[in-house]
Amino acid sequence: MAGLVSGKKALILGVANKRSIAWGIAQALHREGAALWFNYQNERLKEYVVDLAASLGGDIPLTGCDVTNTAQVEALFAAVEKRWGSLDILVHSLAFAPREALEGEFYTTTLEQWNTALEISAYSLVLCARLAKPLMERAGGGSIITLTYLGSSRAVKSYNLMGVAKAALEASVRYLAADLGPYNIRVNAVSAGPVKTLAAKGVAGFSSILKVVEEKAPLRRNVTQAEIGNVGLFLASDLASALTGGVIFADCGYNIVGV
Ligand code: NAP
Repeated sequence: MAGLVSGKKALILGVANKRSIAWGIAQALHREGAALWFNYQNERLKEYVVDLAASLGGDIPLTGCDVTNTAQVEALFAAVEKRWGSLDILVHSLAFAPREALEGEFYTTTLEQWNTALEISAYSLVLCARLAKPLMERAGGGSIITLTYLGSSRAVKSYNLMGVAKAALEASVRYLAADLGPYNIRVNAVSAGPVKTLAAKGVAGFSSILKVVEEKAPLRRNVTQAEIGNVGLFLASDLASALTGGVIFADCGYNIVGV
């Protein structure tokens, strides 16, 4: 039986290790028949990505690409164009803010911290979408998926600057969706509940966030990496053909809870 994304080509940015949300999405896309391509940010992290790609079997291209280096991002998309000719799915699952900006008080944020966080966590989506557009047009359309968090619209202790970056990211999703819709390119964000990953460790008091969600979320538990993977798969597939510009929560319902 054909998978939900059989024959589709997916570029996945943000696999750092086996706990990465991007890895959950990659496994779901692979299971349902997509061809994958990964990036790794630098040589230090390459070996993890090489091992993970090998565990899926087949020939998965890997390219070094730091999104703060525009030439590297352009080279990545040029390599995709050369090998695949077109692209159906882009998963943008990356973010960064300096650790000092993810603790204490938000008003202490410096301009340098602000620029770093907004460039890596929000602007990079715009850059990648711009470069993905011609490749997705060739495929007759495409799906761009990014990862966000509730801290974009609520003041979550210690999330601070990353909350502002996620607000910019979600606004970018809407503007990109409006621009790219006429080309049948959909752009959506998955707002994931907390998951213990490398990036999450940077947020002060992250373990207590996991505990609160377990106590208060309607489903009384935290979301799993595999469940977020399945939401990413849904958005990438033709089942979501009418969805664009949205923020889809994968958080066991925590976002609806009041007092
Ligand atoms: P992760 O495994 O640490 O993934 C973050 C990725 O961002 C890593 O692959 C990291 O690469 C990459 N990255 C950072 N700076 C980069 C740069 N300049 N160029 C290229 N890649 C860069 O953590 P994750 O939790 O899966 O994060 C993935 C996404 O999910 C992020 O947008 C995050 O904000 C979002 N999210 C996470 C949670 C959560 O609780 N974990 C909840 C909601 C949303 P390096 O490791 O090489 O730096």
